[in-house]
Amino acid sequence: MPVVSRVLVIGGGIGGLVAARALRLRGIAVDLVEKEPQWTVYGVGIIQPNNFLRAMDRVGLAQDCLDNGSAFNGWRVHDAQGNVLFDPPGPRDAAPHLPANNGITRPRLHDVLIRGATDVGADIRLGTTVTAWKDDGAGVDVTFSDGSARRYDLVIGYEGAFSPTRRQLFGDDYAPHFNGQGCWRYNFPRPAEMDTGMVFFGPDTKVGLVPLSPTLMYMFIVTAEKDGTWHEGPTVTEEMRNRLKGYGGLVARLRDQITDPAAVVYRPMLTMLVDKPWHKGRVLLAGDAVHTTTPHLAQGAAMAVEDAVLLGELLGGDGTLEAALGEFMRRRLDRVRYVVECSAQLAAWELEQWSGVRNPDADQGGLLHRATHALMADY
Ligand SMILES: Cc1cc2nc3c(=O)[nH]c(=O)nc-3n(C[C@H](O)[C@H](O)[C@H](O)COP(=O)(O)OP(=O)(O)OC[C@H]3O[C@@H](n4cnc5c(N)ncnc54)[C@H](O)[C@@H]3O)c2cc1C
Repeated sequence: MPVVSRVLVIGGGIGGLVAARALRLRGIAVDLVEKEPQWTVYGVGIIQPNNFLRAMDRVGLAQDCLDNGSAFNGWRVHDAQGNVLFDPPGPRDAAPHLPANNGITRPRLHDVLIRGATDVGADIRLGTTVTAWKDDGAGVDVTFSDGSARRYDLVIGYEGAFSPTRRQLFGDDYAPHFNGQGCWRYNFPRPAEMDTGMVFFGPDTKVGLVPLSPTLMYMFIVTAEKDGTWHEGPTVTEEMRNRLKGYGGLVARLRDQITDPAAVVYRPMLTMLVDKPWHKGRVLLAGDAVHTTTPHLAQGAAMAVEDAVLLGELLGGDGTLEAALGEFMRRRLDRVRYVVECSAQLAAWELEQWSGVRNPDADQGGLLHRATHALMADY
């Protein structure tokens, strides 16, 4: 008998959809509500490192991701003019039978995840939110924005960085904060000679090129930004192109192709960690709602998915809910703390370097190497 019989997942992002599948695979009834009336996933891509693929494999979705994406080995490192500096292989010790990385468009990943949840019987309702809930210790009575109501053994808030359920559980104790950087992204046709991920270090920015399919790739550029404003509208192509000045070679050629404002995706970088148990009674938080990380290790969604897969294992096993949630925290908190803190450190060193500060302790290459290898360990 699983620890719980019926669970509500709030939020149909990457983590929520994998949680729905992981729980259904253990025979647990799952309702999932997503506030958006349609799936609204922006068009650029996401990197799935080997530990992300291991988690997907544990719920039977890794091959589907690979079939819909583009596997690549590691990150070939260049200077701003496109000269190769070094070409380290990516670690794949988490799942040696899978590639080191997979690049996949976010819409394609979502298609895989929606199919993955619905195929095993998760009940998904779009355009629906929770309007009220009451935990009486034996269950949670939930009412929804469509007027319906139901009782659950457990409610999981997978609502992302601005989770309303986090606020209900912890008040204003936790909120994501802007770290001084932004990330600009754009899709391009993939050059025939591209055979791996590529990164280019400029004097005050960093550029990456990520394969997404045999014919598609995306560029990201990480920049210093003065505040957490979202850049949108007709000027974003020019703003992105301006930030790419100073690069030569391939990046300079791509810069001139940034012409469609609707295709520029900008996000300020946010960071936050809830550093105490992520549950109160029968209401639990997971994913970005409790650990929002900057993308320096490409591990945000990986951590949300690892949460989801472990929840499936623990809630589908024997014992009490209290013991399962205690074990969940024991196996998740230090690991996500490591991701959030290493990512924040990498960002801080970049910002120092870009502003001309010489910090003898800064060791981006060393930390990146140690962290990407450390995350291959099981948890
Ligand atoms: C620039 C950038 C690049 C990144 N690159 C990578 C990468 O390469 N690899 C990686 O692993 N991670 C990456 N990430 C991180 C990754 O995108 C997130 O960690 C991941 O999306 C978190 O998933 P989630 O399900 O927890 O939350 P989200 O993806 O934010 O999903 C939350 C969902 O909940 C819904 N929702 C919110 N409130 C409610 C409500 N009240 N009721 C119902 N539904 C609600 C939202 O509409 C949304 O669909 C990147 C992040 C950024 C900013």
